[in-house]
Amino acid sequence: MRVLVIGAGASGMIAALTAAEDPNNRVTLLERHARVGRKLAATGNGRCNLTNLYTDLSRYHGEDPAFITPALEQFGVSDTLRWFRSLGLVTVAEDSGKVYPFSDQAGSVVDVLRLAIEQSDIDLHTGSEVISLTWQEDAFFARTQERLYAADRVIIACGGKAGGKLGGTGAGYYFLKGFGHTCTKLYPVLVQLKTDPTWVRSLKGVRAEAEILLTCGEELLQKNRGEVQFAEYGLTGPAIFEISRAVSVTEGDLCVTLDLMPQLTEEELFEELSAKMQRFPALLLENYLTGMVQNRLGRTVIRACGLPLEVPASCLKKKDLRAIATMLKAFRFPVTGTMGMDYAQVTAGGNKTDEFDPRTLESKLIPGLYACGEVLDIDGDCGGLNLQWAWSSGRLAGKLGGTT
Ligand SMILES: Cc1cc2nc3c(=O)[nH]c(=O)nc-3n(C[C@H](O)[C@H](O)[C@H](O)COP(=O)(O)OP(=O)(O)OC[C@H]3O[C@@H](n4cnc5c(N)ncnc54)[C@H](O)[C@@H]3O)c2cc1C
Repeated sequence: MRVLVIGAGASGMIAALTAAEDPNNRVTLLERHARVGRKLAATGNGRCNLTNLYTDLSRYHGEDPAFITPALEQFGVSDTLRWFRSLGLVTVAEDSGKVYPFSDQAGSVVDVLRLAIEQSDIDLHTGSEVISLTWQEDAFFARTQERLYAADRVIIACGGKAGGKLGGTGAGYYFLKGFGHTCTKLYPVLVQLKTDPTWVRSLKGVRAEAEILLTCGEELLQKNRGEVQFAEYGLTGPAIFEISRAVSVTEGDLCVTLDLMPQLTEEELFEELSAKMQRFPALLLENYLTGMVQNRLGRTVIRACGLPLEVPASCLKKKDLRAIATMLKAFRFPVTGTMGMDYAQVTAGGNKTDEFDPRTLESKLIPGLYACGEVLDIDGDCGGLNLQWAWSSGRLAGKLGGTT
């Protein structure tokens, strides 16, 4: 059987390797970039968080997250780790459940896949962008600039729209639409947030462990705790990525409130600040929060309370101490949006999953057409869940409805 896999990213490479396990298949893998796995090589800040030991359904999103159940049951986290080990990849898990290659280099994950493809009979063509895909008389025809490929089965593994420079073209949505499939609205997720620039600008590069509240008007949308990084445009960092989905899909008056000292209550902070004033009355306000929060952050908190930096602590009134304590517990950053699809790690939304058989990932509309990975309406939380979906779905699609 002639099998054509479009896209040599995470899901496409595992799909092609799986399909090639059946000696009756002749597998062709087409990739528009000059190299396979370009996005994969950039994942996890260059470390590739390839899966998560605590993967479960509750950490996936889409119109019907349960769609992923058969794929995860057939090829879950331990199957994935065993499969990668068989390719020669040694991995290590952090306490958080995040799994990385032992080398700490995403390139190792790409390399074991690339080398396995080279050792197989897969016919790999890089620098080959599929520009059209059609179906006539029981065969598919994929056209690149150079040539026309005919196939009996096609697996669409083109990824989503996120991370544009690394491969997110949206071509998969286009091909599937041509076959009558429907796509939901697309949102950027796991992405930086844009906020009112007033305070974040001066904090560019500062990191803080904080409790984060995301609200829309009076409604609490999400609560989270972890590292926040300040940037010229707004807020970033792992904990911010985790709330970015809610920002993307919610319209309204969004605000991130940071509790910069979650270990103390506002009252305890007030007492601490009052005692400090008694002990060090000559201490300038620019140094008043030194030892409590990062210095630049401390000065910004003082300024955000409307207080001058160059006066001694003895000038502080009770209401000023109260204002500082309140600001440390609830520094508000009105959200103006996300940094958008080009900066996002993942696309939320995608081709509607009810148009595919969850047990095979074959299209219900066109026999012989399969899809896997981010092109489908499934996205996972931060922490290796998205790559796990790519591996599980790629493996399932590569079986082409059989039990290879
Ligand atoms: C910066 C960054 C960091 C990330 N870090 C992590 C992480 O640590 N852990 C995690 O779980 N997830 C992470 N992700 C998300 C994860 O990389 C994706 O969810 C995953 O790669 C999706 O796999 P995929 O196979 O569906 O798509 P992709 O990996 O994007 O692969 C799609 C491939 O198809 C090719 N293609 C597209 N159109 C065509 C065409 N017309 N013809 C030929 N080829 C085509 C593309 O060039 C690409 O190589 C990260 C994403 C980004 C952008």
